[in-house]
Parts: sequence; structure tokens; C-alpha cells
Amino acid sequence: MSIKVEDNSGGLKRNHEELETGTKNVSTNNILNKNPPNYKKQIIVPVQAPKIHYVPLKTGLCYDVRMRYHAKIFTSYFEYIDPHPEDPRRIYRIYKILAENGLINDPTLSGVDNIGDLMLKLPIREATMNEILEVHSIEHFKYLEKTSNDNREQLLKETENGDSVYFNNDSFQSAKLSCGGAIEACKAVVEGRVKNAMAVVRPPGHHSEPESAGGFCLFSNVAVATKNILKNYPESVRKVLILDWDIHHGNGTQKAFYNDDNVLYISLHRFELGKYYPGTIQGQYDQTGEGKGEGFNCNITWPIGAVGDAEYMWAFEQVVMPMSREFQPDLVIISSGFDAADGDTIGQCHVSPSCYGHMTHMLKSLARGNLCVVLEGGYNLDAIARSALSVSKILIGEPPDELPDPLKDPKPEVIEMIDKIIRLQSKYWKCFRRRHGNLGCNFKESINDSLISKNFPLQTAIRNFQSKKLFDELNFLTLPIKNFQKNNMSTSTTNSINNKTTSTVISSTSTGTPGNSKEKNDTDDINGNNTTTETNHSSDSIVPPDGSTETKSSSINSKKLENSTTNIKTISPLNENTILCSPAIIRSKTLVVLVHDSPDLWTKRDVSTGVVDLSSTIIIDSTLDFIKWSLDRNYGVIDINIPQTLFEQDNYSSILAAQETLLSFWDNYLKYFPYIEKIVFIGFGDAHAGIVHLLGHRDTRSVVKSVINFLGKKPLKALVPLVDETLSDWYFKNSLVFTDKNHPFWADNENKKPRKKFGRVLRSQQDGIANLIEERFDEATDFILDSFEEWSDEE
Ligand SMILES: [Zn+2]
Repeated sequence: MSIKVEDNSGGLKRNHEELETGTKNVSTNNILNKNPPNYKKQIIVPVQAPKIHYVPLKTGLCYDVRMRYHAKIFTSYFEYIDPHPEDPRRIYRIYKILAENGLINDPTLSGVDNIGDLMLKLPIREATMNEILEVHSIEHFKYLEKTSNDNREQLLKETENGDSVYFNNDSFQSAKLSCGGAIEACKAVVEGRVKNAMAVVRPPGHHSEPESAGGFCLFSNVAVATKNILKNYPESVRKVLILDWDIHHGNGTQKAFYNDDNVLYISLHRFELGKYYPGTIQGQYDQTGEGKGEGFNCNITWPIGAVGDAEYMWAFEQVVMPMSREFQPDLVIISSGFDAADGDTIGQCHVSPSCYGHMTHMLKSLARGNLCVVLEGGYNLDAIARSALSVSKILIGEPPDELPDPLKDPKPEVIEMIDKIIRLQSKYWKCFRRRHGNLGCNFKESINDSLISKNFPLQTAIRNFQSKKLFDELNFLTLPIKNFQKNNMSTSTTNSINNKTTSTVISSTSTGTPGNSKEKNDTDDINGNNTTTETNHSSDSIVPPDGSTETKSSSINSKKLENSTTNIKTISPLNENTILCSPAIIRSKTLVVLVHDSPDLWTKRDVSTGVVDLSSTIIIDSTLDFIKWSLDRNYGVIDINIPQTLFEQDNYSSILAAQETLLSFWDNYLKYFPYIEKIVFIGFGDAHAGIVHLLGHRDTRSVVKSVINFLGKKPLKALVPLVDETLSDWYFKNSLVFTDKNHPFWADNENKKPRKKFGRVLRSQQDGIANLIEERFDEATDFILDSFEEWSDEE
């Protein structure tokens, strides 16, 4: 049918063009010759055989009943009633559903040669040793070969010793057939005997590494097929895309091509910090290939389980397709596990058959349709049959079915992960640069917050600017951070009093739980220092325990920053501007402690380079609203900035930094403030985790009256009550935790009530921390005043 349509439309277009030129000539003739135009003269286009190669071809199908002989040896009745998931019936059920839906004709399912008009049976054969050795070691080959002659005991022993594999005497033959099937299917496509092909083979292959079997896989079928195609068809196939949508990472396939720039391997899989099988670091999204192959490996890792159509379509549209089009493959092979399918108890995800159809349809647009689908995992027999049917229909030429829920949004964790992947891959793929500028490209290695560094992180610049504003306009001061760096005493020579404070604190902790008298001594120490400096500089109200006069001047501050970054940089990006405080802080009775990441930027990007346009970028520093509000009431203010991790680098985590900073801040400062009666903590973004951590680890309840957290879309953080079980109740009663409208917590269940350990969690009407604060500022400050038992005059 499609042949006819294409031919007609081509014909119509031609006739239309001819008609137009014809009219022109006719009118000229008309003027010159005064003869009536000859409308009867027609251009004849003789009927042609369709000049298309693809549509008339069939879809190849590779299937052989002998691959069902590889099976687990039953050792108990239990194994009989609850068989191994890599069940011989897997391939049979796919073959059967193709027959049931008329895609093939084989009423007895015996594997006849002529299977009808739509699909062509591709004869299967065993892969040869030489073919297999293109990927695997001779030792691995011999090891599997030996299982053909092993006795039952030996087979059971090998099964027990293997990494999620089993053997019987037919395993070796099945594995060679499975591998040979993948090769023959690819060959048929490359040679143009079929338009595309599907290899319904088992055992699967993608976990099998060059030296070893694993994860139900014996030989790495797709890798062996790819190597042999590249070797035997060097003119027509120079580049192969392997798209692996099995829910597990194809560690074997990745390894086979990690150094190879002729093969782009893209895998979509559950990872979850390496907890999901195979659970090796090789499956992480930052594994991008090495040597010549650098940039030709792309792991799209699901940070959470239960993903489905929305996430797969998002990944395809955002990453897979742009990258694959840029790669321009000559052949596409799908490592087609169906264990992400809805209903698969191992994958526990929800990909619908029509989503598999859509993905196949997209991949069919590459490499002029040279597409070969090779079965990998998939353990729910109904689900794999339905999914394989959907894929086969697309191969034959049907359009994909509508997705069951096309409006569903991908999960926010996935959107974030995809963004990370794009940023990382933008180093290698031009198609991503428009979105991310050069981030993740040239600069990654050399970002450095030394003031004389060319690639200077904006968050450091912003903190320096924030600090200057607070110093110059509100007379804020710094509290030294060096106290908090473990084993990092006396790196600075700028303030001796600072060192003195540190040593006091160290001695108090080294004596274990400080008794009353000890604690009093420490307090006296700080007060003593304090009084001294105060008398020295009577014009400046009260200086912090740091005590040095230098802290008042921002130029000297910058100098100190330069000195200190060289010391601190290797530990974390915290610096001397990390903790700032309002003047006379030590005398405060009431204290507002703000703990935040960098402020929001509202910005515009240059659409062609992805670079941020600074002329239309503003900083939304919402913490300033709270600072002014507090100072108006004569509260002391402490402002703690915990920088975000730069490019998820190295060993710094902003959450851990927030936790450590807050604990040290409490142990070294806050608990020694002599006049303190009331404290409120206000947390923003990830940094709020430091507050929750502190509240669980120290009993602060005598002075901390309330806690406000503006989470945005950051994960809820549970209070772990190490001090006393009643802390969770206390936290719930005395906190407000504001989340984005579209925070992931609410996605699954609109009416879900968070547990008390998360505090009193409230859902805002908007997204973005700046918007949240604007919406909830009055509610938050009223709550604080209530907790302080202070009200303004208007109320
Ligand atoms: Zn799998």
C-alpha cells in the first residue's frame, strides 16, 4: 500500500511542475503565433517499478528451537515449580506471539522455513571459534566448551561458582547458536537481504565479558556480531551504534568497545549508586570510554527504580537520538532486553509495549533503516512476548501505537540525571553544546577558586560579593572557618586568638563530655578574648572570637582568602567567607542562623552557544530579606554559605560539608554564646541538611525555638534522633519545611503525609526557592515570632 502512495505523490508533483512550465510556453506561443494553445499535448511518464529498496524487503527473523536446550539442572522440586528466570520458554513465547498475530505463518510452531510474506526466516548457525575469539579469550571459550562434556556434578559445581550463570551439556551449543544467530541477523541486514532483522536468541550476551560469563550470559552475542561485521564489511559498515535498553548495564558489551571509536555504545539502565546488578562502577554515567574510544560510551543511568515510558522517551529525545544522529552509524543493533517492561519482577519498571515501538521507530530512522534487534534479558514471559511483538510490528512497517499516557512527565530525578549526562557528553557531542555552552568540556579540569584562576566559579564570586555587601553595608564580620578543619590548626599566622580558641575547643573535646566547670572555663576564655579586643577597638562594636581587626576590611579579607584557599582547597571549597555574622554577635540574646547554598540566578542563554548572557542575569538573594527582617528586630544574624559541589567533583559533598560545618559551629561557637536565649535556624536548599543533622546529633532544644527550611526540590531530610527519641516529635512541632509544588515527594501521592521525622512539610504553589520564599516569607516570620513568643505591634 505504501508503495502506491509514494508513487502517486511523486507523479503528482511532477505533473504539477510540467503544467506550470507548460502554461508559460503556451502563453508566449499564443502572442507570437496567434494559435490556440494545445492543451491536449500531455507529458507521459511511463509506469515504473518502484525505485525503493527498503519497503519491498521482508524483516528477518532468527529463531531456533535448539536454543531452548540450555536449561538449569533441577536440584529440587522448588526449582521445578519456581524455575530460573532465564527460562527456555522465553524465546518460544516470542515466536508464538508472532504467529498468533499473523506476523509469521507456522501453525505448529515447529520452525518451518517459509514463514509468510512479512518475515523471512534467517537460517541460524553456531558462531565459529574464530568469530568468538574476536571478543573473548581462548580460555573463556575452552571453559565453556568443556561444559559440553562435564558430568552432572561438575556442571552443578560450575553453576555454583559462576556469577549468576548455569550450565548443562547443551549450554555451549546454545551459546554458540545464540551468538551465531546475532551474527547472521546482522549480516542479512548489512547485505540487504532483509530490511531489518530480529534475533530471538538465548542465552543473552551483554553481561559476558571477554574473560568471563555472568548475569545469565555466556558469550557476548552483540559484541561478537559487531566485531565480525566491522571486520568483514569494512566498506559498507564503518560505524555501529549499539543501543542497549535492557534494564541492566551491558558491562560485557561496554568492555569490548571501550577503546573503540567505531562503535558507540549507549546503555539505559538502573544504577542507583551501583546497588543494581551488575553494580560495577563501569555502569556509572561518567564512564565515557577511553583512548580512541573516549566519548563513544554513554551510560544513561536511572537514579531510581520504577521508571517507565516518560523517562525512556525523555532519554531518547534528549540524549539518544541527537547523539546517534551526530554519530551517523551504518548499522544499529539493539541489545533488546525486555526486563524494563511493565510486569517484569526483576526490572520492576513500567515500559509499555508501545514505548518499545516508539523507541524502535526512532532508531529505524538511523543508518537508512539498517537495524538489527537482538534479544537480551526480560523475564516475564507475557511482557517479553508483548514487547517483542510491538518491536516486530515496527520493523515490518507499522507505525507505533499511541503511548498509554503520553502526557506523563518524567520523574524529576531522571530529568536531573539526563541533564548531568548531557553536560558531561557535551564535551564530545556538538549537538549538546547549544544547551550547555562549554560546561563539562574544556573547563572541567581547570576550574579553580584561586582569585587568579582564569576559570573562576561563579558561586565563589557571588559569595565574595555577598560578603562585601554585608561587610560594607551592615558591618558584618567573618567567623574563622579554620577552627572547623580537622587537624588543620595554625595554618594561618593572621590571628593568634583564633588559635587559642581552637586549642580550647580541642582540649574540651579531648576530655570527652565536658563537665560544667570545664564548659564554663571555655566560655570564659572566649569572653576574655572578646573583652580584650573590644577595648582595643572601641569604635567597632563587638568582634567575633576571631578577634582580629583585619576582618573588618574587605581588601584584607580578599588577601586572607588567597592565603587560605591554598590551604583549604584540597579539603573543600569552604573558605573564610563561609560564616559571616552581624556585629556584636556574642552579646546576642536572639539569633537567626541562615544556612544556604548559592542564591538563584535568573538568566538567559545565548541560543547558539549555550553561554549565559550576563547582561540579562540577576542574582536573587532571598536570604537578604531574612537578614534585614532580623536586624530590624535587633536579632543577631549568622549567615553560613555552603557552596554546591562543582561538577560533582572529587570528594566534596555539599551535604556533608553542611553537616560538618553546622556541628562544628555548634560545638565551637554557638553553645558558648553567653547570653543566648533563642535561636531560629533557617535552611535553604541542600544546606538545610546540615541543620537537620545538627538537631539530631546535639540537644539544642533549650535555645533553638524553631526551624524553617526552604527545600525547593531537594530531597526531604529525616531527623535521626541520636540524642533522644522525642526529638522527632519536637522537630515536627517546631519546624516548617517548604517544598516546591513539583517536589518529587508529591509526585507519587498527592495526599501523602510525610512522616514526622521530616518536620512539618508543606507544599508550595510554586517551584524555585526564590519563589517559595516570596510566597511563604510572612508565614515563616510569623512562625518564628510565635516560637520566640514575640509579636510585632500590628498583630
Ligand atoms: Zn537484564
